[in-house]
Amino acid sequence: MDLRKRIRFIYFDLDNTLWDFKKNTIIALKKVYNEKIIKNNIKIDFNYFKEVYTDRNEEHWRAFERGETTVQELRVSRFDKTIQDLSIGDRVEAEDLNKLYIDTLVSLKNLMNNAKLILDYLRPDYELGILTNGHKEEQYKKMNSSGIFDYFSVIITSDGAGASKPNPKIYRDAIEKSGYNPEEIAFVGDDYVVDTLAANREGITGILLDPKNNIEDNNIIKISDLIELKEFF
Ligand SMILES: [Mg+2]
Repeated sequence: MDLRKRIRFIYFDLDNTLWDFKKNTIIALKKVYNEKIIKNNIKIDFNYFKEVYTDRNEEHWRAFERGETTVQELRVSRFDKTIQDLSIGDRVEAEDLNKLYIDTLVSLKNLMNNAKLILDYLRPDYELGILTNGHKEEQYKKMNSSGIFDYFSVIITSDGAGASKPNPKIYRDAIEKSGYNPEEIAFVGDDYVVDTLAANREGITGILLDPKNNIEDNNIIKISDLIELKEFF
């Protein structure tokens, strides 16, 4: 398959594909922990706080992908559930924690390995876009903080599109906004189901970024570092 000839437009997922969500979220959580937990004299180990939050956050995102909650709701409810589980609900406010977390998070600039390099490599020959589940304002801030905003001619967020990945509606929206046919579009993302399989179903060429080699599927295109996109484009 010669993607170089066929593909004209490349969409990227944002979190954990271009913008290092895992690294940035730990930095933001550490700030919440230092300013809201430690300063309130609450004796909880950071790693435990992080673990409980990460589990609650994951559950809320899965519920979001099933259409059971909104981004707005999950932002506060994940912290609400965290402080309930830690039995500190009487000492800190979920909204307060969430605000500090979000304000800190969106200002962070750590990108995935080789992200800038590959965007510079692709930009002369392909149109580039973003297709992300998330809050429009926050995702825009992350792109601005990390200096990648200007690479993209189309930016689609789930709240802007009124549907979230893996819903076919957001993929059809992405196809339409690109101005190309599905077979001329590639989509690089880090989630096998939500990004790669869902894109492939709509005729887009899904490429899975799988740094830890978690997924075994010979029917998809897989890379372990963004730099490997050079082999295809
Ligand atoms: Mg992602």
